[in-house]
Amino acid sequence: MSGSSSPGDLGRADDATASANGAQRAVVYAGPGRAEVADVRLPALETRAGPGVLPRRCDHGVIVRTLATCVCGSDLHTLHGPGATPGMVLGHELTGVVVEVGRDVERVKVGDACSVPFNVACGRCANCRAGLTGHCLSANPSRPGATYGMGEGFGGWAGMQAEYALVPYADFNLYVFADADQARERLLDVAMIGDILPTGYHAARSAGVAPGSTVYIAGAGPVGLACAAACRMLGAAAIIVGDFNAERLEHVRSVGFIPADLANGSLEEIVAEVVGRPLVDVGIDCVGASDAAVAKAAAGGMVAPALALNDIIGIVRHGGSIAIPGVYPAGAPGVRPPLGVWLGGVWSKAITVTSGATPVRRYQDELAAAVLLGGVGIGDVVHATTIPLAKGAEAYEMSGAGASRKFVLTP
Ligand code: ZN
Ligand code: ZN
Repeated sequence: MSGSSSPGDLGRADDATASANGAQRAVVYAGPGRAEVADVRLPALETRAGPGVLPRRCDHGVIVRTLATCVCGSDLHTLHGPGATPGMVLGHELTGVVVEVGRDVERVKVGDACSVPFNVACGRCANCRAGLTGHCLSANPSRPGATYGMGEGFGGWAGMQAEYALVPYADFNLYVFADADQARERLLDVAMIGDILPTGYHAARSAGVAPGSTVYIAGAGPVGLACAAACRMLGAAAIIVGDFNAERLEHVRSVGFIPADLANGSLEEIVAEVVGRPLVDVGIDCVGASDAAVAKAAAGGMVAPALALNDIIGIVRHGGSIAIPGVYPAGAPGVRPPLGVWLGGVWSKAITVTSGATPVRRYQDELAAAVLLGGVGIGDVVHATTIPLAKGAEAYEMSGAGASRKFVLTP
């Protein structure tokens, strides 16, 4: 590619969704707490600077036409956080079909159906080679680790809630489905292997969930539910999922997990009723702390934004483990956000803690097999619900209001 971005040059001339002037529909950041659908320029293999996008050549990239692109809890963090620029395309969970490949791409072909890991990873640096694709040393000029649709602090890669998206380092990043038709038929299941199923699975694996484990998961949102599904795959004996939202808790029960209604009871009592004592082997924090909670704490209005984590520390047994897939803000340079974590509880119980962005690509082969061959009905577990891309803003509103659904946008 020479930087041109007309639909004809991109090999998409007969695609009715790409308009004649090289524009496409996308969900964009429209100011604090607001998303809207707008026309943005089509992606090319050489990006120009734009809202939340850094200019670079991507001969190692491909252009993917969207089949499904999901709304994630971390998109809501972006919407309410400090890193977004108006007009920036949001989103990082994409399943689609390759429509154009860059000059340096060897493995991926036009027509391949693929899942895109939310991490942008070069595949060449020391961290990528060690499997730490969530902490690539090359894809983000400002710090290790990059993703799509979160602005320059996350590497300046355009978001994926759009009709088309650029995926760099495509040979390394993309998971290509062996059977494109099967992937289309099971779209609501395979759409979950770009982020939330690997995220839940990585948390469960890194915390040592195994046959017979007793597990408490904080948060019955899509990541909490995906994590519960992962714990079931790994053979956990008891999987308790806590939340304050009655609709979410009803869904937890309906898909076969044990709900813990934190609005109407003590977590210790609920756990004791299930396990026989108020302790579990593993606790998993799928809640994290919002920027708003941290700001409130910094202003003196809240003692501990890490409420869910502190609950978990209270009910994990001595020698147990905790995984934290939920996002905690690192803070601006030189600022350490006051989170109020009960570290004394961690120390006194000798609890092992794991955390951080999931290296999605590490798990996609086995999870695609689990979903497509092993009958893991992950779409049902997370209540995957399709909604047209044109109604993306409504999906954000409903997700923000705590809807017990995982919204999957389709063009
Ligand atoms: Zn996500
Ligand atoms: Zn790398």
